[in-house]
Amino acid sequence: MADPQCQHTLSNGTLWCKPCWRRHFVNNFNDWTTGHDNIDEFIRTTQLEANKVTDYLHFIPSGELTIETTYKNAEVGIVQIACWIGGPQDVWDDNTYAYKRRGDLKVAVQYISEDPDEFLQEVGKALDHLLLADMK
Ligand SMILES: [Zn+2]
Repeated sequence: MADPQCQHTLSNGTLWCKPCWRRHFVNNFNDWTTGHDNIDEFIRTTQLEANKVTDYLHFIPSGELTIETTYKNAEVGIVQIACWIGGPQDVWDDNTYAYKRRGDLKVAVQYISEDPDEFLQEVGKALDHLLLADMK
C-alpha cells in the first residue's frame, strides 16, 4: 500500500509514512527543547524510530498544560491531571494533506525526578514495559 500523498510505501498497514514523519520531526527539532541534551536526544530517537502515531514521545511545553488536579500522595508519587491545550498533532486532514492537532486532551502528568539521568532511567524502564505489553 502506498501513501496517496507522497507515494511512499506504507509497510505496516497503518497510515504512518515513516520517511515523511521523520522529515517532519527533523524539521521541528529546533522548535523545542527540554533544556537537557540527553533528554532531547532520547525523545528525538523515539520520533525517528516510530512505526506508528502512538510510538513516539512528544515534549509538551509547560505553557500548553493546564493543571486541573494534583494528587500528592499517589502510589507513584506526585501525579497531576492536566489539559494539554491543542493536544498531539496526529489527526490526518484530507483538505490540507497534513496532520493537524487533535484538540485539547486530558493527560496524566507524573513527577519523576529533577536529575536528568534518573529521569531517563525511569522513563526508559516505563517504555520497555510498554513495548513488552505492546508485543503481547
Ligand atoms: Zn511519505
